[in-house]
Amino acid sequence: MPPKDTTVELLDRENTAASDATRPKKVGFISLGCPKNLVDSEVMMGMLTQAGADLTQRTEDADVIVVNTCSFIDSAQQESVNTILEMAKLKNEGRAQKLVVAGCLVERFRDEIRKNIPEVDAVVGTGELENILRAAGVAPARELNSPFRILTSRSEGDAREAQGRFSREGWDGAIADLPNYLYDETTPRVLATPSHTAYIKIAEGCDHPCTFCIIPQLRGKFRSRRFESVIAEAERLARQGVREITLIGQDTTCYGEDFELKDGLALLLEKLAGIEDLRWVRFLYAYPNKITGRLLETIAAHDKICSYVDVPLQHASASVLKRMKRGCGGDLFLRTIEKMRRTIPDVTLRTSFIVGFPGETKKEFEELCDFVREAQFDWMGAFGYSDQDGARAYGLEKKLPASEIERRRKRLMQIQRQISKKRKKALVGKEFDLVLEGTSEETDLLLEGRTVMHAPEIDGKVLVNDFPEGAEPEFGKFYRCQITEAHDYDLVAKIL
Ligand code: SF4
Repeated sequence: MPPKDTTVELLDRENTAASDATRPKKVGFISLGCPKNLVDSEVMMGMLTQAGADLTQRTEDADVIVVNTCSFIDSAQQESVNTILEMAKLKNEGRAQKLVVAGCLVERFRDEIRKNIPEVDAVVGTGELENILRAAGVAPARELNSPFRILTSRSEGDAREAQGRFSREGWDGAIADLPNYLYDETTPRVLATPSHTAYIKIAEGCDHPCTFCIIPQLRGKFRSRRFESVIAEAERLARQGVREITLIGQDTTCYGEDFELKDGLALLLEKLAGIEDLRWVRFLYAYPNKITGRLLETIAAHDKICSYVDVPLQHASASVLKRMKRGCGGDLFLRTIEKMRRTIPDVTLRTSFIVGFPGETKKEFEELCDFVREAQFDWMGAFGYSDQDGARAYGLEKKLPASEIERRRKRLMQIQRQISKKRKKALVGKEFDLVLEGTSEETDLLLEGRTVMHAPEIDGKVLVNDFPEGAEPEFGKFYRCQITEAHDYDLVAKIL
């Protein structure tokens, strides 16, 4: 998944009365990267508050600054390093006594971070979240709930491990042990999302062998959370006022395979759909050949399960997919898409592609363009291939120049822009449920919301320009709306 800047917004709980020596430590958190990283941030913030720390959204007021980093691709690494440097400057100028770096970048460059940025006082990898307390200098007020250490594994993961798939050899300073941490329903967590919506991480790690990706080395072998643990967390969140749950993991469609649960994701969705107070349940990051008929039928059968499938396909040319070690090809994908649309007629489809993979010929790229024209996705992201030291593709020949990669990426996005425009136009006049989320970032005169077609943070938006007279808009509340206008990606709606 593409990295997304998700700077955490937190309540600033002032404690001006207490003296410096006795007042709780104020911790400022910056969370970079994807929602999976955001959940890690929420867990660390939960542990810190349970131990008595205060959280602040003003890093200049913080005693401890934590940067939870992303290391997905070059640009994400660069953004992480820039943020750490910015915070190091703030530490030198301000009142912060500690700078802690957490997350994926730590798994990849553990020693180098501390060696090259002396302002960094401690690092916390993705498999040692509970160490945030020691790193931040916050003593646990009481014994922390013991983290759920995973004991299961999939035969695929075991086989890949034997083949050296998860090896970090050659990664300067990386600890040999792969992360095996997984939070559970008893782990404290402070939500950083608006109060009506929350992510639940149902699994961690990945066993797939995609040659462009280092996530398995960063996050470890695939492991699922216990079924009951996910349900218990969803029930708790619903009691707290959460109305939309988005299930995440590196690959949500493998959920339960490590404890031999067949159709685990479908079963989980079915059970979640039974939680009365939830309005929408959705999942992200499906692996194409794991989308089963049972999963699609489950989505179609329950109103609360969003008719929305996010399936990153990465490419459509069989030869490129073979080099990516993902298999399949455009024809098979088109059949899966056809099946999805047949089973769930109102389904919204999102995908993403990597453009300019080593050796991608003009013909292979054209195959991808033709596929995109034919598949008619509702949402699509395209990323230029980025070389990752440690990924198998790093050693491949025939790398494309950056300018050509960018040219192809833009061309693919241009094709999708036309498709999106057409598909959005077809929605004008139709009615949907919409969750109102706030005022528009562009102007206070417009409100903003999402429908079932819009997953949090990644898809276009719905601008609301007409609200019933005399009614007071309530953020986090669901309304019925009618689409009145369509742009390339965004929609305009009126509340009915
Ligand atoms: S499925 Fe492939 S791209 Fe996604 S996390 Fe796993 S190895 Fe990386």
